[in-house]
Amino acid sequence: MAKKKADCCSFCGRPGNQSEVLIPSGINPDIYLCAECADSIHEILQDFRGIEPGKKKGAKGGDTPDLAKIPKPKEICQYLDQYVIGQDSAKRYLSVAVYNHYKRLAQPEGDDVDIEKSNIVLVGPTGTGKTLLAKTIARMLDVPFTIVDATVLTQAGYVGEDIESLLTRLLQVADYDVAKAERGIVFIDEIDKIARKGDNPSITRDVSGEGVQQGLLKLLEGSVVNVPPQGGRKHPEQRMIPVDTKNILFICGGAFDGIERKIAQRLNTHVVGYATDATRQRINSDNYLSFVAPQDLKSFGLIPEIIGRLPILTHLNPLDRDALRRVLTEPKNAITRQYEKLFAMDGVKLTFEPAALDMIVNKAIEYKLGARGLRAIVETVMIDSMFELPSADAKEFTVTADYVLAKLRQSHYELNKTDAE
Ligand code: ADP
Repeated sequence: MAKKKADCCSFCGRPGNQSEVLIPSGINPDIYLCAECADSIHEILQDFRGIEPGKKKGAKGGDTPDLAKIPKPKEICQYLDQYVIGQDSAKRYLSVAVYNHYKRLAQPEGDDVDIEKSNIVLVGPTGTGKTLLAKTIARMLDVPFTIVDATVLTQAGYVGEDIESLLTRLLQVADYDVAKAERGIVFIDEIDKIARKGDNPSITRDVSGEGVQQGLLKLLEGSVVNVPPQGGRKHPEQRMIPVDTKNILFICGGAFDGIERKIAQRLNTHVVGYATDATRQRINSDNYLSFVAPQDLKSFGLIPEIIGRLPILTHLNPLDRDALRRVLTEPKNAITRQYEKLFAMDGVKLTFEPAALDMIVNKAIEYKLGARGLRAIVETVMIDSMFELPSADAKEFTVTADYVLAKLRQSHYELNKTDAE
């Protein structure tokens, strides 16, 4: 990297003796770049990476975040509102946790009061928006973010993936920049699947349950772990990348099927003798989840050490009829909007009659498919028109309740039917 003070920067014309360094071009010896231009290019690039959607989630890596620039919890929550219906409690907790994550990254080294990270558990039935929340928040973040599945993990030495491989994806998202990855966020899905298999500490080895939980401990609390750069099983000859998890925020999600029973048991034993009628009324079988507490996770089979390292616990509600109806039309990328766009590309104006939407929601409830089923139902209803219309010269197409019913009858959904006749 030669310094030729006599030359000037080919970008801004600054003479070489007015810059710390002139960097010569690798291919043309007459072209130079001064330190000032290099700095501003760096800044422009950082801005660009932060703003451009889909570009590595805008990870800025090793830089200390500027608190004034990062979104406040209310702004994060408003952003989530555009994509996720309901789930206010989970949105609040997540917004605050992510905001605090930034604060922790912004704290100066060696500060007296060390802000500890607050890993999160989201408890909610399948298809209520846990992954959607995580994905949506990832879109607005400025740190590397990845979603991993706990079900593939096993204790070291057994068939399956080593626990450290959770961090491989994060490294990949951060372009193998370890400093960036060490400030990232990992969403661990299906955390309930690594619950202890039996109530007693294992007599037989529980390599995909308690064994994994033990292994997760050190990741959650913060320590330096050796990560296989390509994931999967560790090979003795593979070069490992040491990653410090101290500043990595872990968000865990799980359906915890049957946890309501544990909550109910606890509440009922607790309630006897003390509860007022008002308390009893507030607790009914539909809202047990909103009373979820760390001891319920323990009864479910998470070990206390893990629970202690996931101090924030929040829940997602099952989606009722009203929520499902809103899921169909309200989110920015709502299912009906997606179909309207597909049809618009063929020059067809697609309209769903309100009664048709109600019918779709009724069917999703009837077939117990929840939000996940809405898409499958709409797909089944729309398949014929998507096949026919591009070759016809129609300009408009309206989906009515009768049309929905007719199409569902034609399809395999009819096998489960309880409607009509
Ligand atoms: P899980 O809780 O099992 O992780 P997902 O987040 O994967 O569920 O939800 C499955 C799909 O259902 C999403 O892709 C989304 O289309 C829809 N969905 C679920 N919950 C909501 C919600 N609260 N708001 C909007 N869409 C939702």
